[in-house]
Amino acid sequence: MNKKDILDILKSPDKSLFKEADKVREEHVGNGVHLRGLIEFSNICKMNCLYCGLQSSNKNVERYRLAKDEILSIAKSGVEAGYKTIVMQSGEDSYFSAKVLCEIISEIKSLDVALTLSLGERTYDEYKAFKDAGADRYLIRIETTDEKLYKKMHPFADFENRKRCLRDLKKVGFETGTGCLVGLPGQTVESLADDILFFKDIDADMIGIGPFISHPDTPLASEPNGDFNLALKVMALTRLILPDINIPATTAMETLKENGRLLALQSGANVVMPNLTDFEHKKLYSIYPNKASADRNEVEVMLKRIGRYVANDFGFRKH
Ligand code: SAM
Repeated sequence: MNKKDILDILKSPDKSLFKEADKVREEHVGNGVHLRGLIEFSNICKMNCLYCGLQSSNKNVERYRLAKDEILSIAKSGVEAGYKTIVMQSGEDSYFSAKVLCEIISEIKSLDVALTLSLGERTYDEYKAFKDAGADRYLIRIETTDEKLYKKMHPFADFENRKRCLRDLKKVGFETGTGCLVGLPGQTVESLADDILFFKDIDADMIGIGPFISHPDTPLASEPNGDFNLALKVMALTRLILPDINIPATTAMETLKENGRLLALQSGANVVMPNLTDFEHKKLYSIYPNKASADRNEVEVMLKRIGRYVANDFGFRKH
């Protein structure tokens, strides 16, 4: 598919794309759904992404940082509950030096589980240290490939550095995940087509597509939410273009639309990321309001209903 083909599909009201993506998902990654247990271990962030409730300028959010022992204890319970992957995510919190993180990484890895990190922009040496300590995957969304829009949305960040991070992550050998937001103010369908081509170009191993959800304590408070169907289309097209990768049915999809997770799983997604963080901290990790949750038992019932099941392997990309 070239850019014109992608654009035609993004602009078309035809819904056959979703069925097609579901078929390609079944053929390439099967009916198993990988559950990744998410630990949101710090909502402290030095960045100022305009759309995000955790941005440093937001003084209305109570900040927290879990201690090493708390993180390890949540990871241990997750593994005992049967999770094959733990995901550690946080704001850009400099308290967590490479040394501290590497200690946590090796302790989690001793539990015989795959480990994904999502900690934002770090140096090559830090990424290398995380990999050497045993981490398997790293998620860092490009958010948008429209450089002008990127600059507007990320006043403290640099587009070239974001791309450098992705290159370095690949270089040190991580399974690398990226993705974009859909519905940012000023975003065009042309740029969404470029985002999809970018995913292909870097041969990403995982792609997370999140509709933008407006947060009341940000400068984008009065902007409308992203369009669910458009986000679903970007996700389904990504499945067609990268048939064997891992694609989560994102929490933002479920938050924006009732049954959004189910629709995503039937339109190309093969991963769900239930939150392992306790209720109080989960509430404080408010990147957008009314964040949906994914109860493991409910997810299992839902999967059974649609002829799918929880996969019991580590869920690495099978090239
Ligand atoms: N700090 C890390 C990073 O920059 O990759 C990870 C944490 S960051 C909060 C995780 C993701 O939340 C971002 O990549 C962004 O796409 C998403 N996000 C933040 N605010 C959002 C919003 N208002 N609506 C939808 N997604 C949002």
